[in-house]
Amino acid sequence: MEKVRVRFAPSPTGPLHIGGVRTALYNYLFARRNGGEFILRIEDTDSQRYVEGAEKYITDSLAWAGITVDEGVGVGGPYAPYRQSERKEIYLEYALRLVDSANAYYAFDTPESLEEMRIRAESRGETFAYNYAVRNSLDNSLNLTEEEVKERISRGDQWVIRFKMPENEEVVMNDLIREEVRVNTSTLDDKVLYKSADSLPTYHLANIVDDRLMEISHVIRGEEWLPSLPLHVLLYRALGWSDSMPQFAHLPLLLKPTGQGKLSKRDGDKMGFPVFPLKWVSPSGEVSRGYREDGYFPEAFINMLALLGWNPGTEQEIFSMEELERLFSLDRVGKSGARFSPDKAKWFNAQYMHLKPDSELTALFMPVLKEKGITITEEKAQKIVSLIKPRATFVNEFWELSSFFFVAPDRYDEKTASKFWKGENPARIRELYGVLESTEDFSAGPLHDKVAAWITENDYPMGQVMNCLRLALVGAAKGPDLFEIVSILSKEETLSRMAKALEILDK
Ligand code: GLU
Repeated sequence: MEKVRVRFAPSPTGPLHIGGVRTALYNYLFARRNGGEFILRIEDTDSQRYVEGAEKYITDSLAWAGITVDEGVGVGGPYAPYRQSERKEIYLEYALRLVDSANAYYAFDTPESLEEMRIRAESRGETFAYNYAVRNSLDNSLNLTEEEVKERISRGDQWVIRFKMPENEEVVMNDLIREEVRVNTSTLDDKVLYKSADSLPTYHLANIVDDRLMEISHVIRGEEWLPSLPLHVLLYRALGWSDSMPQFAHLPLLLKPTGQGKLSKRDGDKMGFPVFPLKWVSPSGEVSRGYREDGYFPEAFINMLALLGWNPGTEQEIFSMEELERLFSLDRVGKSGARFSPDKAKWFNAQYMHLKPDSELTALFMPVLKEKGITITEEKAQKIVSLIKPRATFVNEFWELSSFFFVAPDRYDEKTASKFWKGENPARIRELYGVLESTEDFSAGPLHDKVAAWITENDYPMGQVMNCLRLALVGAAKGPDLFEIVSILSKEETLSRMAKALEILDK
């Protein structure tokens, strides 16, 4: 294979959807797997759809997800610049080449006249298409002499260059995922390639020219671009570049959790899960939540995305980025849409929670504790983290799961209290107070053995006494192993909480 060079080519028209991150990821993995390069190109030739902050959002998202760019915007490289708006001067030459070879033509139709034709077609129940059937009766260079064309351009008429789509030709394309795709050109219209109004190419021309100039070997992008493929293939041909045309792979759609329809940017708000990698605040102040802010680990996010469309061919579900870089291949990318599941996303995060070293999680938890005004050693915090992490999906649940370690209960769960704090149990807790008061070693194991022996000796009901002790220390029937709690609370705090419970609950 020739040198693999792939590109992720987003348009900065808003925040990057998770489908876009998946496209970037598959490009990145394909590059890594094949010893190639991953390029970030910003396709910002549509000035009307440009959104402030979107480009930064794209680069921040890739950085957070651990998708490193080898070449491109923000990194530089031998094919710079990588932002299409900075390559403006390059494209006209190619548009003119297409006019010279009769593969394209100048069109002078005004937006108003096009709109009128659209309305007229609609009133007949048809859709207007600028194509082989009508081009010979419209205001374009196919129907004007060379002199007239020159004259209109020099007097300042606005013009566009349109591709002259061949009539009734079967285009046969090969897609690495969809295999052979055939389209008859009579179903396609004459797309605009270049506009004099802003001296800018449209997506189609800029995309083809840049893929050629940047020596892109494989175009891996979302399925929504498949309808553009015939035009792209014909553009390569018309420019005489068929021999070095990249290979194409169109990725399956991401579907809504119901499996019905494409996952849209609005689904997240409607169904309560993020569809964006990072939180996004639109220029008008509208806020959309992000995976990062919701507490997802980037590794879990990437793992989830990797499996939305690709499968390893085994039952394995947990993959590090390094493993994905070794294993990814396009022939294991499916054709049919991949259904997004918010529950599965959480499941992945929980798996990474359990895999992460306690020290790493503690480092994430320390700032939360600090903010709550808790002073604690790293060592003790880590012990608490090790106890609560089996119950947590997100680090942002740690405080809720562990606050009783830091703050003594001042209320006791009523249901638990009425179930256990009755009969002789309070007296047994008073007796246990004495047992603990005379105990020196408060480490979990020995303490458990001592209390269990005391309960057995006295023939007390084990479950009831333990639940009462838990109620006194935690305030509810929840939390990790009771003696781990006691050993972290220390003797003094344990006794003080028992005394407090005896006082309040006995009233
Ligand atoms: N600029 C296009 C987009 O926003 C790129 C499509 C392609 O990869 O060719 O997705």
